[in-house]
Amino acid sequence: MSKPIDIDGAFGEGGGQILRTSLALSLVTGNPFRIGNIRAARAKPGLRKQHLAAVRAAVAVGRAQVSGDVPGSSELAFQPRGCFAGDYTFEVGSAGSCGLVLQTVSPALLMARHPSRLQLGGGTHNPFAPPYHFLQRTFLPLLNRMGPQVRSELQQWGFYPAGGGRVSVDITPAPQWTPLDLPARGDLIRCDLQAILAGLPRHIADRECRAFNAAVSRPFDARVEELPDTVGPGNVLMATIESTHMTEVFSAFGRRGVSAEKVATELAGAVNTYLASDAPVGQQLADQLLIPLALAGRGRYRTTPPTRHTHTNVAVIGQFLSIPISVRPVDTEVWEIRLGDWVGKQDGARAGTTRR
Ligand code: ATP
Repeated sequence: MSKPIDIDGAFGEGGGQILRTSLALSLVTGNPFRIGNIRAARAKPGLRKQHLAAVRAAVAVGRAQVSGDVPGSSELAFQPRGCFAGDYTFEVGSAGSCGLVLQTVSPALLMARHPSRLQLGGGTHNPFAPPYHFLQRTFLPLLNRMGPQVRSELQQWGFYPAGGGRVSVDITPAPQWTPLDLPARGDLIRCDLQAILAGLPRHIADRECRAFNAAVSRPFDARVEELPDTVGPGNVLMATIESTHMTEVFSAFGRRGVSAEKVATELAGAVNTYLASDAPVGQQLADQLLIPLALAGRGRYRTTPPTRHTHTNVAVIGQFLSIPISVRPVDTEVWEIRLGDWVGKQDGARAGTTRR
């Protein structure tokens, strides 16, 4: 049995992503790991409900031995017995993010020998997590371009704090992956804004649409959707930017004590940064593409200046996989991230996934 990899949960960003990436790559490689200082940089450090949900899901998929999986724990040891495709139901609990649980278990299931079906219950549109529509419109289409086929369905919306959302995900793994090359986004095709409301007055969404279009650098087609069958309160503003080579989704969440105008201008700020640069990949997608490209063995994309999440994820991936990753500025607005020996190679060897 291989020696556990030691992970420092306080490193870099010092958040839950270090744990989720470690769980994901432990399932992919079969390598056990130990992590200490879990989420040391967060106001309430240690394992919280949504992190425990990710651990429980990884334990199920890997039939893993685990210790330290209790609320508040700052240490965890995880040893998978393999990766077991199948039908799973994961109740993330209250409004814990379905997307973050998917982020944890999907890499290994994408590389399994058999298909899987996941039923996820919890939050589908949470602040600080990938909203369902970002996964459906941005992340999964890029993954599907690489070979595996992932289909998702939003069965019920779930907002923080009420939760109650439901998502189903069908995963068909691919034996061979095609590396992704995303140097440019191409021409703008469509810019849409959706203001979604559950159990909140309509004027909130109308004001968000007006304030967003007043602050953004080009007009967006705006529409308001009220969700009568969703437990509120809930309000998300989603900007979808479709270009020739990909679609990006940016979102901002309405919350108590923050005006509709402030939510809209926050979102417009992120969208303006993206539109001002010609990088195809936004900041959040940039940290999430690293694992799939590492599994493909190589790949390349250009992005707006990377976050600490991205730099931290690069370092954690490096603890599990032997794949070179470079993160370099092209100019002040655009950075390029390359994985593997990218230059001139077109085949899809899985250099990054060799078990140690
Ligand atoms: P914690 O320690 O509280 O668990 P964390 O630092 O691990 O937090 P976040 O900063 O909340 O986690 O980010 C979690 C993941 O969710 C990252 O991969 C990030 O890119 C993604 N994410 C956050 N917000 C969005 C968003 N609006 N759209 C897409 N992805 C998002």
